[in-house]
Amino acid sequence: MRYIRQEIFPKIGKENQEKLKNSTITIVGIGALGTTVLDILARAGIGNIRIIDFDIIELNNLQRQSLFSEEDINKPKAQVAKEKISKINSEIKIEDFLEELNQTNINILKSPDIILDCTDNMQIRFLINDFCKKNNTPWIYASVIEEKGMTANITSETPCLSCILNEPTENLAKCENSGILNTIVHSIAAIQATEAIKILTNQGYSKDLISYNIWSQELTKIKTKKREGCKPCNKIFEFLNGKRIKNNQKSSEYMQVRKCKTKGALEVIPEKSIQLKLNKLKDNYEIISELPILAILKINSYQTTVYKNGKILVRDCSSEEEVKKIAEKIYEDAK
Ligand SMILES: [Zn+2]
Repeated sequence: MRYIRQEIFPKIGKENQEKLKNSTITIVGIGALGTTVLDILARAGIGNIRIIDFDIIELNNLQRQSLFSEEDINKPKAQVAKEKISKINSEIKIEDFLEELNQTNINILKSPDIILDCTDNMQIRFLINDFCKKNNTPWIYASVIEEKGMTANITSETPCLSCILNEPTENLAKCENSGILNTIVHSIAAIQATEAIKILTNQGYSKDLISYNIWSQELTKIKTKKREGCKPCNKIFEFLNGKRIKNNQKSSEYMQVRKCKTKGALEVIPEKSIQLKLNKLKDNYEIISELPILAILKINSYQTTVYKNGKILVRDCSSEEEVKKIAEKIYEDAK
């Protein structure tokens, strides 16, 4: 009875509903796009869903991340999303991974029927692109900013992300500095989820890059082309092999400090993959709260969030030098 309205819709029907039930998808990123796509596809009856996200819920997320509410603030996104979805559809299986995807933990993607990119990170997209090219897994790229969004199906029949963009174009210094209208999130998530349903049920799907502006209501379908010399298409997987990550550098050389306007903080991003032992911080710092993936500390009166993967967020501090010093000490203390 749950899916009756979908089953009487001719393009789905009972047979395709069964295919959805037997499908496995992985959603990378449970933010604005991720919560919306997850909500739609869980209700549509996708039988097995894996979700990957290492972030925690913040007040400014509630404007557009539709699964979350005020009581969820400071809890891990993937864990809360799993709990909410289990209440919406208890008949499906959902697994959560509280991790940031990188080339060392890439196997948590496993071998799904499709991967949905709901990150806002170009490096991770190129990593997914490598993984999918290597394993012949279809994936759907999506991004949203201001009142605009884009999405493209990337399969063995289409150009890959590297064919289209060549290199990650995103400026690493950018951190949520542009605003976003919540309605574009739902529009792009709806297109992305619809395309996933088409691919999972072996129906004709879009081979174009779809660009939509919800303010001017302009939808453009852009033809893309395979690019000669594209590395992943020639089985060169630099992102997957970790060749794009700088190694053997001192911590001060490999970290980047960037400003996060929406979070009112300076953020330190390690360029190489590290794993911090958060329990080692207990002796030297005042701990405000602690989760398996992060610890919130008080350092020099600043509220500082330290993630297991080395990301550090220092609030209300305007000195990059001071933030670098704090980060270097934490990296040393939590080795
Ligand atoms: Zn390519």
